[in-house]
Amino acid sequence: MKIAVYPGSFDPVTNGHLEIIRRAAALFDQLVVLVAVNATKHYLFTAEERADLLRSCTVAIPNVTIKTHDGLVALYASDINATAIVKGLRAMSDFDAEFQQSLINRQLNETAETVFLPASSSSMFLSSGMVKQVCALGGNIQAFVPPEILWQIETKIRAQAQKQS
Ligand code: ADP
Repeated sequence: MKIAVYPGSFDPVTNGHLEIIRRAAALFDQLVVLVAVNATKHYLFTAEERADLLRSCTVAIPNVTIKTHDGLVALYASDINATAIVKGLRAMSDFDAEFQQSLINRQLNETAETVFLPASSSSMFLSSGMVKQVCALGGNIQAFVPPEILWQIETKIRAQAQKQS
């Protein structure tokens, strides 16, 4: 059985992430979407909120499971016998950091291959940061996030924006 891990912040999940999830789920028997919990990073959504949003928009994909993790992705992949670590690439600007990360991950776990999936032309401009910025400033994010979680994402971002104003 081929298991892959797709790690990220997903703060919050966007249509770009969801597209990578669908495509990776079609390539592997099991896909574990790993929500990073990094104590040095500031997230808008808690790890559980990020995981729940991901669960809500992936319920229809049977071979996808959502987990949270606060350690090294390469070691997590080794623990669950994953043979691949999936990354989405939007542009050359993503490549540099992702390439370095893939070399480190190979040092830590030589049995997991990093697999890069290119973003589609319709989502190559999409990031969680952009979604938060547009929404906080009152813009419509309907085209950028899955419809079933639009309301939850908008509510949280707008509440946070109000707190800061
Ligand atoms: P971001 O905040 O930039 O969206 P994440 O850490 O949540 O970053 O991203 C997790 C993974 O998903 C990374 O491999 C990232 O390159 C990829 N990714 C993020 N957005 C997209 C997108 N629009 N299309 C393809 N891959 C993406």
